[in-house]
Amino acid sequence: MNKYVFLFVITLTAFLLVSCGEKKASTSLNAMDTFMTIQVYGKKPEIALEKTKKLIYQIEQNISTTNKNSDVYRLNHGESISVSGDTLTLTKYGLDFAKQTDGVFNPALYPITSAWGFTTGDYKVPSQNQIDELLPLTDYSKIQINGGFINLEHGMALDFGAIGKGYTGDEVIKLLKDNGIRSALLDLGGNIQALGKKPDGTEWIIGIKSPWTGKAAASIKIADKAVITSGGYERFFTADDGHNYIHIFDGKTGRPVDNGIAGVTIITESGLYADALSTTMFVMGLQDTASYWKRHSDFEMIIFTENQNLYFTEGLEGKLQLLADFASVNIIRK
Ligand code: AMP
Ligand code: MG
Repeated sequence: MNKYVFLFVITLTAFLLVSCGEKKASTSLNAMDTFMTIQVYGKKPEIALEKTKKLIYQIEQNISTTNKNSDVYRLNHGESISVSGDTLTLTKYGLDFAKQTDGVFNPALYPITSAWGFTTGDYKVPSQNQIDELLPLTDYSKIQINGGFINLEHGMALDFGAIGKGYTGDEVIKLLKDNGIRSALLDLGGNIQALGKKPDGTEWIIGIKSPWTGKAAASIKIADKAVITSGGYERFFTADDGHNYIHIFDGKTGRPVDNGIAGVTIITESGLYADALSTTMFVMGLQDTASYWKRHSDFEMIIFTENQNLYFTEGLEGKLQLLADFASVNIIRK
């Protein structure tokens, strides 16, 4: 194609896009204990955004651990109820993932995370006795699902803090697609999910936050992918002994993870899978994480360690741009 024909095609494409009425709209909201921003491009982006907000609030209403009318609150307070589709899907997915990871991922850790104060902000270090008493209540294998009914034993409690936002992102993307949107970027409290490419046809550039400075330590170009991070720095408290205790737990010990990992970012198509993985890989630690990836390899992963080493899977080679200095840069290969 000669240069002038090429330019004509480009101009025509741009003209068609504008004449098709593609517009940008964005909105921000506070939901699920976090700040969310959503930008969409399409013919009627405002209508799609209104529906999106409603959907997010509705999912929150179903799975909140604090709203007294939510399924999860009612289950956690001893009711055996027929639950919403959101709660049922998350419970089934959470239990499957727990089985697959031998409990490294555990959606029933709420009694433990509550004892440490992560559910209320009233932080404390529980005694070993208290932890030992609570651990049996986190046995996810005892959760019963019969049709749409869920039943928890007395004292047990669910918490979808590790997968709720990823699930919500997937549901939002489905809704946007159904509403004719072909291009959108969701930031659900740092969980990024992209629908399509940018309207100009290029990929989205996503920054990966440094656990130390809060600025971008790396960036990556994506389309139709979730980029989901679990970070110890996102929520923690410093106890009287000067030790930092983070919000991600080792369900075997009932204690916050302390394995030298500072942050794990997962890149894959499904937000739900990415969210489940980010938490799980954080708990597993560097060695087990690498072997889990080798066995599955349907996702890419970036790990920052507390002593500022960077690890990433080989699929990201040439795609990840480093924007900070690291003590070492290591590629995880098959
Ligand atoms: P994320 O930021 O996605 O890693 O989710 C962290 C949240 O998941 C915590 O605030 C807890 O509510 C919950 N959580 C902590 N440890 C675990 C675990 N081992 N398995 C499942 N959920 C967890
Ligand atoms: Mg997660």
